[in-house]
Amino acid sequence: MNVYSTICPGCNFGCGLYIRENGKLEVDFRKSSPANAGKLCRFGMSLSRFYTPVKSTIDGKETSLEEAAKEAARRISAGKGSAAFLSFGNTTCEELLAFQKIAESYLCTGANFEALPKDAYQTLSVGIPYSEIEAAKHIVLFIDPYEQYPLIVRRLLSARKKGAKITSVWWKDLPIADENIRPADVSKLQLTKDSPVIADFHPLSDVEQVKNVLSLAKNAGAKITFLKPFVNSTGAYLLSKDAKQKSLAQLVEDINKGTVKTLFCLESDPAGLIPQETLGKLTNLIVQTGQAGAAKANVVIAHEPLYRKKGTLINNEGRATALGGAGTNGLETLGIVAGTKFEFDPLHESVKKMLGISAIDEFTIPKYERPSYGAVPASAKPIEAKNALVSVYNPFMWYGLADDNDFVELNLGVVRALKLLKGGNIRIKSNGSSVEKKFKVSPVQDNILLTGKRIGIEKGTLTPVEVSR
Ligand code: SF4
Repeated sequence: MNVYSTICPGCNFGCGLYIRENGKLEVDFRKSSPANAGKLCRFGMSLSRFYTPVKSTIDGKETSLEEAAKEAARRISAGKGSAAFLSFGNTTCEELLAFQKIAESYLCTGANFEALPKDAYQTLSVGIPYSEIEAAKHIVLFIDPYEQYPLIVRRLLSARKKGAKITSVWWKDLPIADENIRPADVSKLQLTKDSPVIADFHPLSDVEQVKNVLSLAKNAGAKITFLKPFVNSTGAYLLSKDAKQKSLAQLVEDINKGTVKTLFCLESDPAGLIPQETLGKLTNLIVQTGQAGAAKANVVIAHEPLYRKKGTLINNEGRATALGGAGTNGLETLGIVAGTKFEFDPLHESVKKMLGISAIDEFTIPKYERPSYGAVPASAKPIEAKNALVSVYNPFMWYGLADDNDFVELNLGVVRALKLLKGGNIRIKSNGSSVEKKFKVSPVQDNILLTGKRIGIEKGTLTPVEVSR
């Protein structure tokens, strides 16, 4: 029986836990973990669903890891410059550094950095310590903590107990908030330099909304923490912020027009973010991973699962943690793909140098420069449609795992206006597609339907829809 002291791969909160290999995978609480004091959300509690074993394959036929990696190298080289490289940050900093060396010609981390002011990258990449949130007197939420990042609720409750006021700028009243402001009424928000802002930043973030949050915080002199969805998003962003990279939208466009024919994904399932139709246009989809995913890849390079890896992860706060395993299988495989050898130690030294520390210690957050950024011209898109579907991205959604929240939320006024029946469905139409969904009555804004689960018709965070019984 092997026990690993590791980090939950579900989001960038950085929750510590134990994984026990005991015929099946078992999860145990790690109370000493500074990010979460042992607590886990439902994703963390059901990690065995995430860590589904995977085998190396070439065109569907099982093969060895080495053969799959060599075949990937052959196909990338045969593509003569038409390969793109994607990793959202679901792996160690050391692997990401090696990956960047391979991906120089076309790197995509999923974040749309291109569309955001360069001098705000550091603010977007690394947030403030959770302890600062707990100590604040006024906290402003641009997220739904219950649905998206449940472990932040503990910190918010603790701040409230000490007298903090919580304001939410959201489409639904949040029980934890003393004041609920709708996104369209954000001008009513009273922000001061002592009001930390909690928002989120992910590959499908609405860039104008992100700019709006940056602008509001800048004008008030307030600190922001952008919570992020992948286990090492902060590490990925810090390591790649000076690298030339393409946005996810650009990658999708390049695959569609045929300039990218081979896509190599490191520990990132493209099925969650790239339309199936686009993926189908690739000559080669190559996935290097430690667990099964939804995308149908031509080459699967299956190495150890994340919890068995050796390496460093960085969470939302900038806290660096050793992952807890001893495996360097992923790095060696990247070496085969690149036709070189990647050694762990020098890469690890580079990570520590970037963080300005001599040892990885999860109990001490490295000191980060937090340079101020210039004025951010922002114009949040108004909701033009009468009704809009708001997709609330959460860890379950990114990994396509089954979620018991299979309903949309809407308010009682909408239920009455549409004469919806208790226990019945609502019909939602957009762009020629139509779905029927169960609904739940919640204190949601009048023209809004909220979903925490993909329903197949959404186009980004906000989708104009028509609704009927
Ligand atoms: S909050 Fe994030 S890191 Fe923590 S248990 Fe849930 S999914 Fe995992």
